[in-house]
Amino acid sequence: MEPQRSPLLEVKGNIELKRPLVKVASRLPLPGSRRKRGPDQMEDALEPEKKRTRGLGTTTKIATSRPRAPVLTTVPPTQGQTAAPKVPKKTGPRCSTAVATVLKNQKPGPAVPAQKPSTAAPPMVGGKKPGKRPAWDLKGQLCDLNAELKCCRERTQMLAQENQQLRDQLREAQQQATALGAERRTLEEELARVRTQAEQGQQELGNLSARVLELEERLGTQEGLVQELQKEQLGLQEERRGLAARLEEQERRLQASEAALSGSQAEVASLQQKTAAQEALLAERDERLHGLEMERRRLHNQLQELKGNIRVFCRVRPVLPGESTPPPGFLLFPPGPGGPSDPPTRLSLFRSDERRGTLSGAPAPITRHDFSFDRVFPPGSGQDEVFEEISMLVQSALDGYPVCIFAYGQTGSGKTFTMEGGPGGDTQMEGLIPRALRHLFSVAQELSGQGWTYSFVASYVEIYNETVRDLLATGTRKGQVGECEIRRAGPGSEELTVTNARYVPVSCEKEVEALLHLARQNRAVARTAQNERSSRSHSVFQLQISGEHTGRGLQCGAPLSLVDLAGSERLDPGLALGPGERERLRETQAINSSLSTLGLVIMALSNKESHVPYRNSKLTYLLQNSLGGSAKMLMFVNISPLEENVSESLNSLRFASKVNQCVIGTAQANRK
Ligand code: ADP
Ligand code: MG
Repeated sequence: MEPQRSPLLEVKGNIELKRPLVKVASRLPLPGSRRKRGPDQMEDALEPEKKRTRGLGTTTKIATSRPRAPVLTTVPPTQGQTAAPKVPKKTGPRCSTAVATVLKNQKPGPAVPAQKPSTAAPPMVGGKKPGKRPAWDLKGQLCDLNAELKCCRERTQMLAQENQQLRDQLREAQQQATALGAERRTLEEELARVRTQAEQGQQELGNLSARVLELEERLGTQEGLVQELQKEQLGLQEERRGLAARLEEQERRLQASEAALSGSQAEVASLQQKTAAQEALLAERDERLHGLEMERRRLHNQLQELKGNIRVFCRVRPVLPGESTPPPGFLLFPPGPGGPSDPPTRLSLFRSDERRGTLSGAPAPITRHDFSFDRVFPPGSGQDEVFEEISMLVQSALDGYPVCIFAYGQTGSGKTFTMEGGPGGDTQMEGLIPRALRHLFSVAQELSGQGWTYSFVASYVEIYNETVRDLLATGTRKGQVGECEIRRAGPGSEELTVTNARYVPVSCEKEVEALLHLARQNRAVARTAQNERSSRSHSVFQLQISGEHTGRGLQCGAPLSLVDLAGSERLDPGLALGPGERERLRETQAINSSLSTLGLVIMALSNKESHVPYRNSKLTYLLQNSLGGSAKMLMFVNISPLEENVSESLNSLRFASKVNQCVIGTAQANRK
């Protein structure tokens, strides 16, 4: 970028160009510029034309700017010359140099007569140098010098004038320069001011540009915003239209709903009336249902009493594979009074008295033994058939009557099969315990609809040699004998409990299955090679049933006891007694004692004796609450079908018959 040129400098430049006078040198000879010249230099002084071209070269310009001094052509007449030699046109310095040279080189000599004008000053033709005066022509020379002096004076005067003019011009120029200087300062100030203004303007312009940019940007943003708002507005308008349409629709629906509501309210009012009537009816029916339930319980109990509070069922197991089949007619099951369709209640056993036959030598006489029970189950009877007969009895426990079911018989007659079931998980083979519990859970569920809530707590112990062991023991307590004792639940309490035995709440079949499995495991632990201990001990499964009707404030509770008794067989007194047999004898005595105590207890209860010998055995002591006046008792007498077991079978049947003859007083439900 080209730097700005100061206008003041421009002006000055113009002035310098227009007025070059300051550079003009004086045409007057300078004092120091004169040189001494020798005589040989005189010629130079007299040849001005030659010198002019060299020494005055710079003055040529100046001369053009002003008029030259007039050329002297004559010598003044005062010098007495008739004819003055024609003086050639000379410049200032040439004249002065010539005068000075002449004056300096002038030597005193003899006076020279003045030459005639015609000869004294030969005329200069065509600008040529005038002819040289002879040395003797002093007058002529003097005359020349005078003329030259005069010429010089004129020139000096002229130069003075010129000088004056130049001074005037200089002054004028100075004044002008001063004015211009002032003007320049003014202009400079003006310029500075203008520059400042320009800078301010520039700055302002920059600010304004930035502001403009910012505003443009804001404008762009605002425009975008405006567009967005417009779009949003359009959307909202659309939405508003939609909402208005929906509102209309809703209003229409509301009107329809209001109309329907008023219809419904009327309907509700009528339904409320109906509901109130239904509720009253329901309450009435509930009341009736409860009355009927109570009646059912009473009648059920009456039926059970009619059937007998002590019932005896006889069950004969089938012949097992590998066993010798008994002779035909060994056991007979005569039909009931109603014919073959009636369930059998009688059993006939035919026994040949070999001893009597051998003595007389005649064929052994056959003795017939008839027994009658509440029900007889021949070998083909299934588990379900057996349970069906006792399910009503089991239900009595829910109604609040203690129920006790025994399995009595010799070892191998089917007691455990009847109570727990056959081996394996076959449901068809399930015994009374799992079936009874399933039945109870199911009936309790039905009764919950009538406001009854039931809970069940199970325990399972075995009594061996008059010691009690928990069959549900787990962990370190497994297999330990003798640490359990039968105690009253509390002072003054009728309820009995076995110390250190587990009482497990149960609510479903699976839990019962698990308990039976655990009991089998615990029995297996105690089993020894010589002694099948399970058949030498009583297994007592007890279920404490508690029922509650919160709505009516009723409670009922009773124990259900399912007892797998120890083998009832007697030890052959003729056998030699080794150490194992002695132990066996002791076991047998304990078993016999407890079984006879059971018989005695039942007798005492039947005869309504004041003293019932419960305490004579652990079994009767534990079961005393299940055997009393309000209890219902059922005894299964299990019989082997084999002829070889006939003696034991007869013993069992006789014991059962005695029990069957007993009648325990009217049972009372345990109601609170
Ligand atoms: P107990 O407990 O009286 O000693 P078990 O119940 O152990 O006798 O029965 C002895 C054997 O006879 C077992 O193998 C058992 O499965 C079988 N058993 C018993 N009763 C029946 C029956 N009603 N049906 C089929 N098998 C039976
Ligand atoms: Mg058994």
